[in-house]
Amino acid sequence: MTRLYSWLYGAVLSATASCHSAEPSMQVSMIVVPQAQQRYDTVGDWRFDTDGNLHITVSQLSDPRYETLIAVHELVEALLCKAAGITEASVTAFDTAYQGNGEPGDDPKAPYRHQHAAATFFEKKMAKLLGVNWKAYDRVVAAK
Ligand SMILES: [Zn+2]
Repeated sequence: MTRLYSWLYGAVLSATASCHSAEPSMQVSMIVVPQAQQRYDTVGDWRFDTDGNLHITVSQLSDPRYETLIAVHELVEALLCKAAGITEASVTAFDTAYQGNGEPGDDPKAPYRHQHAAATFFEKKMAKLLGVNWKAYDRVVAAK
């Protein structure tokens, strides 16, 4: 577990470093909106604008800690996708066309499945640190 954590942490650091060298002024914004204001049926969304700034949009949830968990997930996923050359457009295209059950990022065919899995790893770590019951949180998110 510790080795996995180190690897993931290293992956995020290198993603951040490569973002930094390409766009030294990258800014990250995280906003919470009503679910209806998301671009599609999701609780978390990310996109890079033409200046390379990252915008994360989180749906309003019953517990602010849940919103934090979504934000952490989106941040990690977006930075790792950028580092791997996976575009937001390809992620959004997959998500909006997805017909299966559960989260599209968990599907083996998802172009960003590894980045999503790493993001979920950090999300779970953060849930533990915030004292969030993962199953209760997961039920709330799944019902959205
Ligand atoms: Zn994801």
